Amino acid sequence: MADSEDNRQREATKRAIRFTLIFLLIYTGIQYFEQSSPELLSYSEFKNRVVAGQIKEITIQNETITGGLSSGDKASRYKVVIPSIEDADLMPLLDDKQVVINAKSSELPILVRGLLGILPWILIIGLFMYSSRLMAKRLGGGAAGGGMFGFSRSKARRHEGQTISVSYDDVAGLEQAKADLLEIVDYLKHPQKYLDLGAKIPKGILMMGSPGTGKTLLAKATAGEAGVPFYSISGSEFIEMFVGVGASRVRDMFEQARKDSPSIIFIDEIDSVGRVRGTGLGGGNDEREQTLNQILAEMDGFEPGEAVVVLAATNRPDVLDPALLRPGRFDRKLTLELPQCAAREKILEVHTRKVPLKDKSCLKDIANRTVGFSGADLENLVNEAALHAASNDKKQVVPEDFEYARDKVILGSVREDMLNDEERKRVAYHEAGHALTALHMEHSDRLRKVSIIPRGRALGVTEQMPDEDRHNFTQDYLEERISILLGGRCAERKIFGVVSSGASDDLKQATQLARRMVAQWGMSDAMGPVSFPQSEDHPFLGREMAEPRNFSEQTLTQIDREVTGLLSRCEAITEEVIEKYKADLNKLAEALLERETLDEESIKQLLHNA
Ligand code: ADP
Ligand code: MG
Ligand code: ZN
Repeated sequence: MADSEDNRQREATKRAIRFTLIFLLIYTGIQYFEQSSPELLSYSEFKNRVVAGQIKEITIQNETITGGLSSGDKASRYKVVIPSIEDADLMPLLDDKQVVINAKSSELPILVRGLLGILPWILIIGLFMYSSRLMAKRLGGGAAGGGMFGFSRSKARRHEGQTISVSYDDVAGLEQAKADLLEIVDYLKHPQKYLDLGAKIPKGILMMGSPGTGKTLLAKATAGEAGVPFYSISGSEFIEMFVGVGASRVRDMFEQARKDSPSIIFIDEIDSVGRVRGTGLGGGNDEREQTLNQILAEMDGFEPGEAVVVLAATNRPDVLDPALLRPGRFDRKLTLELPQCAAREKILEVHTRKVPLKDKSCLKDIANRTVGFSGADLENLVNEAALHAASNDKKQVVPEDFEYARDKVILGSVREDMLNDEERKRVAYHEAGHALTALHMEHSDRLRKVSIIPRGRALGVTEQMPDEDRHNFTQDYLEERISILLGGRCAERKIFGVVSSGASDDLKQATQLARRMVAQWGMSDAMGPVSFPQSEDHPFLGREMAEPRNFSEQTLTQIDREVTGLLSRCEAITEEVIEKYKADLNKLAEALLERETLDEESIKQLLHNA
């Protein structure tokens, strides 16, 4: 319905534009024929001809005289511009020669005048309508371009149960969340069963999880599984230009969903309306508060017999208004974590259903090597791999394609710019330094790959891979991590005598890590078991709005001193390693210059077959 409305309006606009164009064309055409076809005479020439008796009749309009020459020849018409200095001789002369004088009013024909009068208005109104349509489209995501009059209609896109084709089969992992939601699915399928027993089913379920963990997918799959209509709206759509619009949208959507019960309402990105009220952040947005209040009112107003379940999703549960989380509203919470290794493998399986794989078993290895990937990242990975295989005219996707895709997703595309020999050598020693340190650290993750192919912002990479997903880190591990980060720099200094700016990112990471260890994780004996909040850690408020520092200047100085001390200690260890295994460093760097990329196997061979 929204679409046909949109089309109609577009048609009308087109017609209006066409009409205006045609009108302008005709008007200028008339002007052209009226004015520019006669021969232009100078005033004195004109007078001479009057004196010579060649002119019998003239027409005066405004400052011009038009007429034909007396020969009666229609074709030889002329036009004269009368000078603005009054010529007192002209009238007597014309009288004398018995020239017939016609005078025309200076005004345009009434129709033309009328049209000219309304033309600016047509243009202004047209422009206004056009821009308001544009605005509505920008803000509303384009679901219903109702122009300036249609903005309050619900933008909830309606899907019938059967149009939701995804089911829980398409959601891999997330077993706990699915198990929790199965109860809701059963309720939506057989509401009467629950009503008869007087059971109260939760009205609101809040799904929390970082982007790409499958919140939207899970909501849809729940509707698909239960076979009920799915109404969805995104919190960001509510932030419209007129106050009250969001609230009326909410009212509309809930009304429709209740008529259609049993049904599911999905509110995506609820944090954009459900932020703690009255903080004045985002300009004290009245609109948002009204929308939020409307959501709360609607949820409170559900009748017992109405089987409508509201699912909401957010990746910022910490900023939500507590009123949203009260009993009777979003009192059930589901946390969707980033997938662990086994779940990643299942997600890869789901997304490779239609992708011809050479060897299914390689998915396990890929899952192993994609720590920290979300479901959306994995989907993207599969797609990149398939694209790579296709562009190389392969019929099947092989592990190398996944390898390529993974590097592209994590590190960015390969950079084309070539380094000169000196730079390449430096990068090779830098990466060899990281690798060598990593090899000689006791707790460190397995070294998987070293490469000096520039990608994204990096000139080279040293990649390590933890054997299982880690949740927290011991002090030893972290200190060794810092040593490895400093390895590139130390190797450069050892070989070239000076360091380069290429190590700046390593330094930044190492310093951040050290600062956290000292100030947040209580890993410095001198500081003791205290956590000092670091303002940059506030995810939403940022540096300026975060709570004020509540410890002294002295403490701050002490933290700085501890951080520097820790970094120096780690660097000393790195230097020791590099000094001791300098021969290996050279071997690694030379092999890198030759082969650009070394994997786990080749590194082992290189260093052990000495
Ligand atoms: P969110 O809403 O949490 O940001 P989405 O639900 O939009 O994430 O997920 C984006 C895409 O990632 C989905 O369309 C789906 O293809 C994929 N995806 C995410 N999680 C999973 C999962 N558990 N199983 C299968 N696919 C997933
Ligand atoms: Mg989403
Ligand atoms: Zn480095």
